[in-house]
Amino acid sequence: MALRIIIGLVLTVVAFAIAGRRLWWLYRLGRTGQPAPERIEAVREHPAQDAETQVTQVIGQRKLLKWSVPGVAHALTFWGFIVLILTIIEAYGDLFSRHFSIPLIGTWAWVGFLEDLFAVAVLAGIITFAIIRLQSDPKREGRKSRFAGSHTGAAWLVLLGIFLVIATLLIYRGAQINTGDFPYPKGAFASEVVGHWLHPLGAANHGIETTFILLQLAVILGFLIFVTYSKHLHIVIAPINVLFARRPNGLGPLQPMRSNGKVLDFEEADPDEDVFGIGKVEDLSWKGMLDLATCTECGRCQSQCPAYVTGKPLSPKMIILELRDHAFAKAPYLLAGSDEARAALPDAVKTEAERPIIGDGDAHGVIHPDELWSCTNCGACVEECPVDIEHIDHITGMRRYQVLVESAFPTEAATMLKNLESKGNPWGMGESKRAEWITELDFEVPVVDGPIGPEVEYLFWVGCAGALEDRAKKTTKAIAGLLHAAGVNFAVLGPAESCTGDPARRMGNEFVYSMLAQQNIETLNEAGARKIVASCPHCFNTIAREYPQLGGNYEVIHHTQLLAQLVADGRLTPVSPIEEKITYHDPCFLGRHNRVFTPPREIMEQVPGVQAQEMHRCKERGFCCGAGGARMWMEERIGKRINTERIDEALGTDPDTISTGCPYCLVMLGDAVAAKKSSGEAKETLEVVDVAQLLARSIAVPAPAPASPDGSESGGSGAA
Ligand code: SF4
Ligand code: SF4
Repeated sequence: MALRIIIGLVLTVVAFAIAGRRLWWLYRLGRTGQPAPERIEAVREHPAQDAETQVTQVIGQRKLLKWSVPGVAHALTFWGFIVLILTIIEAYGDLFSRHFSIPLIGTWAWVGFLEDLFAVAVLAGIITFAIIRLQSDPKREGRKSRFAGSHTGAAWLVLLGIFLVIATLLIYRGAQINTGDFPYPKGAFASEVVGHWLHPLGAANHGIETTFILLQLAVILGFLIFVTYSKHLHIVIAPINVLFARRPNGLGPLQPMRSNGKVLDFEEADPDEDVFGIGKVEDLSWKGMLDLATCTECGRCQSQCPAYVTGKPLSPKMIILELRDHAFAKAPYLLAGSDEARAALPDAVKTEAERPIIGDGDAHGVIHPDELWSCTNCGACVEECPVDIEHIDHITGMRRYQVLVESAFPTEAATMLKNLESKGNPWGMGESKRAEWITELDFEVPVVDGPIGPEVEYLFWVGCAGALEDRAKKTTKAIAGLLHAAGVNFAVLGPAESCTGDPARRMGNEFVYSMLAQQNIETLNEAGARKIVASCPHCFNTIAREYPQLGGNYEVIHHTQLLAQLVADGRLTPVSPIEEKITYHDPCFLGRHNRVFTPPREIMEQVPGVQAQEMHRCKERGFCCGAGGARMWMEERIGKRINTERIDEALGTDPDTISTGCPYCLVMLGDAVAAKKSSGEAKETLEVVDVAQLLARSIAVPAPAPASPDGSESGGSGAA
């Protein structure tokens, strides 16, 4: 017994010392990151929501269970280890007393049953994991495997470790049944089976009991050390990462640029003192560092990334792993307390410390520029990540540094930025052109000139594409016609409207973004805008969720939400049948980023004759058109075009029409359809339209309404 106690305690002290040292090292490394007071503030503000997220996402495994087979296997393993904490308590108790049982519950049959049930469940879970890993072996599947690029050797070691935890547990419990030391009279069915097997060994069961209790503790303690040195650290820190992530799902507005925790003021910023985005790994905030340490290398993000899927060098998983490996390799440099200590470091550490974060093969950068600039900001990676890693923050941070400090970005995007600065729109058109679409209507649309009167219910934010791009202008006219037909009193800013700044911000040019945003907020405030309806999801997202950071607070709605409401209220009645098979493409910044999935579908459901059919990748799993993240303004030279990939999927449903709710998607998908038509792969009649255009086609032309007090008519659709 004394030997049992001594060995058990020595093992425990050694393991905790090694694991504790490693955790302290990780903590110090995380502390080299920038402060992130806004994350602490957010947790303080929403304790109930955060508690719910911990319950549903961490304990309930909500995100993991979206992938049914691996999700169930993970949930069984996770829940199993929670229940098996009881067996660890019992193993430690057994060190000191052969007849140990947990006070109160330690002899209840159902507790013994539950422990064995979850021991078996964990075994089932790890067998499933092993099969999944064999089926998606990156050596055979190459890029297609979601484990491509992951450290697969460590994953196999962990599976072996978990197997040993369960095996040693069942063996010592089986031996205890034979020695009379087992606390549960019945219920522990799996232990009883093992006990039955061991029974012929007679008195040797005493030795087996002691040996396997110690082996059980040794395996668990070895596992504890291994966890702190591997991707399985997520077992400990995933709940913390989830706690400090944005709600919901880690997706949300981009954060303003911060230096030492304070929002950067461009007029007062000092390039020598302040941090401009992420130019080195220690420019990440501690939350960014926590992201790196939390990655489980599961590859779910990679498998959903449109850039990765279409053969580009970007993988959101590899961005995290490349930054993590670099941070760990540079850590001795970051943690060295003095110049002397840094000078004494091995050359390999000093070389790592000098690596640029972005650089091509010649520059030995941590991340290749083609990875950085391939991102469309679609959010599929963040949505999918079970531990709420926020890849877009990392990518945006690095883009900010490249644009603002290095002036290094795809040259073709320079024209767009110049046009935004000089003309307020990406095409560089004159501001008077913004109101030209109005002249093509057969009714008046008031253009705001001074404060908006109380009779104006909505300010219609048209957006650059909606005002200036020919295909998107058709949507704009359809929306205006529908609002007019429904008797909604609305006005537009016309020439006073500028780009929201979204393309500049998503590209990393926070300076141009804040210039445009402040100008727009001033215009909106002078007009006294309260309720805004936006037709472009990028404008919708920026005004609704990012302008509040600069003091612009408005009630913003997307046109599909407003139109769906008008149909539901009976103010718009689609009557003309559209006998077509129509597949709806979810715009990323409407669907995934802002959770508007239902209204566009509700509109389509109300149009008689429409046979709506979903693509395989839809709603939360919608696949990007390729335009977001300022990609609309960059060449797509590597791999398959993302819009072509999306249209190939749409063609799989044999549609007559593809509908959407975003001018960017309209243009990107329209271009891909045109290419398919010219190669004979799509029927000539196939078209891409906005849901508003569909509704406008089907809408009844109401009887002329009586003239309103200002003399204008409120009837007649005028829809395009
Ligand atoms: S935001 Fe979209 S494109 Fe960018 S890394 Fe994530 S999944 Fe890939
Ligand atoms: S970032 Fe998230 S989804 Fe991607 S590999 Fe890591 S844990 Fe998995």
